[in-house]
Amino acid sequence: MTSRAGSEEFGSQVHGSWTPDDHGFETLAIHAGQDPEPTTGAVVVPIYQTSTYVQSEVGKHQGYEYSRSGNPTRTALETCLAALEGGRTGLAFASGLAAEDCLLRTVLQPGAHVVVPNDAYGGTYRLFAQVLRRWGVEHTPAPLGDLAAVRAALRPETALVWCETPTNPLLGISDIAALAGIAHEAGARLVVDNTFASPYLQRPLALGADVVVHSTTKYLGGHSDVVGGALVVSDVELGEQLAYHQNALGAVPGPFDAWLVLRGAKTLAVRMDRHCENARRVVALLQQSPAVREVLYPGLPEHTGHEIAAKQMRDFGGMVSFRLAGGEQSALDVCRSTRVFTLGESLGGVESLIEHPARMTHASVAGSQLEVPSDLVRLSVGIESADDLLADLERALGHA
Ligand SMILES: *Cc1c(COP(=O)(O)O)cnc(C)c1O
Repeated sequence: MTSRAGSEEFGSQVHGSWTPDDHGFETLAIHAGQDPEPTTGAVVVPIYQTSTYVQSEVGKHQGYEYSRSGNPTRTALETCLAALEGGRTGLAFASGLAAEDCLLRTVLQPGAHVVVPNDAYGGTYRLFAQVLRRWGVEHTPAPLGDLAAVRAALRPETALVWCETPTNPLLGISDIAALAGIAHEAGARLVVDNTFASPYLQRPLALGADVVVHSTTKYLGGHSDVVGGALVVSDVELGEQLAYHQNALGAVPGPFDAWLVLRGAKTLAVRMDRHCENARRVVALLQQSPAVREVLYPGLPEHTGHEIAAKQMRDFGGMVSFRLAGGEQSALDVCRSTRVFTLGESLGGVESLIEHPARMTHASVAGSQLEVPSDLVRLSVGIESADDLLADLERALGHA
């Protein structure tokens, strides 16, 4: 296991003894990159709150020179994330979008073309539509669940196919292995934003993806107390290029933020199991409610992506969206009527959240091909008592 393709320039190369070949997911989450600290025996990786490191003579140091280039707390997180995704190189960033920006500026040139999902995370779409376009990078939105449409969107200069599965907020599913085949045939790379599933439920690199992107703000951090991002790759050379740009662009997380994500990752598996279990119960309730027109959840047999989701995911996740029979006003009424579900943006924390994508998280895609229905409500089902969640929703639906 290599943490981050460390050359002398970018921190140390860590060969941990915790690899996916030898250990299960839960063990890696708790131990990979997290050996006890050798000088004191501290069992938990310390927060190395330092910007610089002593050199015994000019150019002679213990693997760390300056904390933008490398910090031991960050290295621990990067090693752990690489292990959890089954990749060779993990890199941590100050946010999910900072990770995306680093990736895009590493692998794209002016004139490049990217295929993006037609219901991508709004911030990702904004990066392509508002920022990268000015640098000569073109993008084509396509429904990634439709492989013929993806093929039709490819151009000779397509460098990346960008995939999210499940998507945000419509919970569409696309076939990672099939998309990897299509992208590779066209000489492009497949990027998978694995934020919604987390590495516990889905491991895109094993399915043929070239790059995994995370907003660690969400399930990996898991407690709504930190903003962070990550990239994980299998290809060592690409890992080195990304590490070079991570340092050159500089959007790294501070040691405390890296530590919070690492602490969250330790309990990812048990949290995800409970998120999935609670989501199943919420879905069953919504399906019976006369106020609800349609429930969007890949665990439902009638969901168009159900079979693919069942094939490539361990379980179906904690995100649930639904449309109200009474239209936008009903959606707004439900959003302001819940008490256990907190009205707010973001997702993936222990607490349940509710939001109205068209006016909140996805307001930036209004008027574009990515516009979302105004009668849609998105839930991030937390790990509170399921009975409390059901009672809260049932009461709020009564106001719809
Ligand atoms: C939140 C999110 C991002 C962006 O991450 P930040 O940490 O907010 O920068 C990217 N993709 C998905 C799917 C997200 O939910």
